Amino acid sequence: MDIVKRFLKYVSYETTSDEFSKTKPSTQSQVVLLKELVEELKELGVDAFYKDGYTYGKVKSDCAKNDTLFLMAHVDTSSDASGKDIKARIVHFTGEDIILNDKKKLSIDEFPLMKYHLNHDLIVTDGTTLLGADDKAGVAIIMDVLEKALKKGGYPNITICFSSDEEIGRGTENIDIDYIKETNGKMYAYTLDGGCIQAFQNETFNAKQAKVEIDGVSIHPSMGKNKLINSQEVFMKFHSLLPLNRPENTEGREGFIHLTNTTGITEHSTSIYILRSFESCELERFENSFYHARDEINKLYNKELVNVFIKDQYRNMYDIIKNNHHVVDLVHEVYKELDINLVDVPIRGGTDGALLSYLGLPCPNLGTGGDNFHGVLEYLDIDEMKMMTNIISKMMEHLK
Ligand SMILES: [Zn+2]
Repeated sequence: MDIVKRFLKYVSYETTSDEFSKTKPSTQSQVVLLKELVEELKELGVDAFYKDGYTYGKVKSDCAKNDTLFLMAHVDTSSDASGKDIKARIVHFTGEDIILNDKKKLSIDEFPLMKYHLNHDLIVTDGTTLLGADDKAGVAIIMDVLEKALKKGGYPNITICFSSDEEIGRGTENIDIDYIKETNGKMYAYTLDGGCIQAFQNETFNAKQAKVEIDGVSIHPSMGKNKLINSQEVFMKFHSLLPLNRPENTEGREGFIHLTNTTGITEHSTSIYILRSFESCELERFENSFYHARDEINKLYNKELVNVFIKDQYRNMYDIIKNNHHVVDLVHEVYKELDINLVDVPIRGGTDGALLSYLGLPCPNLGTGGDNFHGVLEYLDIDEMKMMTNIISKMMEHLK
């Protein structure tokens, strides 16, 4: 099947994940596509099955290649925009604004990165839903790579995994890591979940989440003097003691603290923060600032009003990848051969690959040609998507 047809087929499945769900996968609609992919893989001759929210598949090398190429993409889409009844359309991008509907357009003035897609064919939405290039472009690329490799021959061992719930941070929950890691040779593992194919992502944030619980003392305001303690007032004092590194004033390699949610009444308030940094020492400094603020406030009120609970979310995968540099070197080598520009770009976020890296599977992230993820302005560069198929096919030639 042609890769564009494939992609359009996959985006016709609504697969929005749900952060409030307790099941795995978080929505049944993802299972429908995951099982369809099992059938497609079997038709190609891949040994494939569905288990616990994942579609897995393996192909044995047809020649003397012992190394294994592992490829992964996620089927779910973000709940930030609707993923239902997607009306995708192909346009040739000449630099003119692309009108999606009366209110929405894609313009190079607003999105300067579109200059990289000049004279390419793009898939866009009708401006009412997201497109789902994140990450069905990754799924389509993997299927296309497999189809071409199995037809042509001369491939290494290939293991693939289509995952669910990446968008809600549960993309490796219950994953069968032992099945994936099984290999006779070296393992070359990649997620296909990036944007522009010239960007190679082998570094992520270190990430923690802080929950701040604050008790107050509720008394009728008319008789509150020297007795009432409003937990929300206490929270504002607490917040003012934290470092000022915030998403809105940091970029590049700078870390931040971000208040994502706060709810409260006089009696009690709860606030959630995310802490992000490429450097573990900066993250530790952020973390300590929460304990320090807690101690200061509790001292001020002479009461244990503030409690801080901090948990790990994911860690910078580069700390693992730097000791397994073959996964990076192979990509650089192939880009050079194909004369395509490549830049290592740290991700100001996390990937499934960050979690996999710490499960013993160093796993950087390749681009798929998509952009403006998670919204109605999302689009996919068909030429780049096809180029990524060629890049991976070339990578396979190198694995021995
Ligand atoms: Zn994604």
